Amino acid sequence: MNAAFQKLCAKLTAAGVPDARFDAAELYRLATGRDPRLDDGPSAAEAARLSALAERRAAREPLQYILGEWDFMDFTLKVGPGVLCPRADSEIVCESALALLQGREQPVVYDLCAGTGCLGLGIARHSPGALVTCVEKSPEAWHYLTANTAQTGVRTVQADVFTYYKTLPAEGADLIISNPPYLTGAEMRALMPETAQEPAMALDGGTDGLDFYRLLTEKYRDAVRPGGWLVLEIGYAQGPAVLALGAACGWVNTSCRKDYGGNDRAVLLQKPEKSC
Ligand code: GLN
Repeated sequence: MNAAFQKLCAKLTAAGVPDARFDAAELYRLATGRDPRLDDGPSAAEAARLSALAERRAAREPLQYILGEWDFMDFTLKVGPGVLCPRADSEIVCESALALLQGREQPVVYDLCAGTGCLGLGIARHSPGALVTCVEKSPEAWHYLTANTAQTGVRTVQADVFTYYKTLPAEGADLIISNPPYLTGAEMRALMPETAQEPAMALDGGTDGLDFYRLLTEKYRDAVRPGGWLVLEIGYAQGPAVLALGAACGWVNTSCRKDYGGNDRAVLLQKPEKSC
């Protein structure tokens, strides 16, 4: 291992970066194109590049933003300032939705608060024939969404989910998926330095974190066909509250799925087969 890489690890560790060694290796690869474990050291130009990247990460800019792309499921997304970074936890949300779509030909799917488009793109890739629409309000996130969905067949709409439901045909959707902003007021005041650099608009779910769940369970019910589904990413402590909101709005077969860390992460709500 070379001295420049060792110094980089030490710098990121001192700055409190979690997984400093992993991040250092990623930055080293970005600056040099080579693996630090097999490398003698950077050239002067590479060292200058590396030092600029190290400053940004030491200032706790998300690694994803510095790299400019990040993997989700089996594909890679463009990311950067202004859009929520795709998280491994969200993969379970997408997989839960895909399981519900099995056997359904050309399902109509909406991804609300789509951000990078990770959930909608995951559905489009693994549910052949799915007609997916990603909806996003933020102009900054929109930039990444359109780049990520280009040439994929996924449709994009720039709209506010608090009014978008009024434009949807009744019972036209087989499934609506969303990772809405869900952090509480208290959580918003205690963000990790990296998360604090992500858009508050993608994180802030109102005082109790449930503002978007109240909206989605109530206003998007009409848009889902009988027997169709609403699949929501949730915070680890929100399972009981979101299940209760769903039941209160007449959704049935409500259930929760855990992420790889063992925390509640997805809520699944079905529209009754026959609306009453
Ligand atoms: N999972 C994110 C976090 O913990 C929150 C994402 C969201 O609000 N949708 O930072």
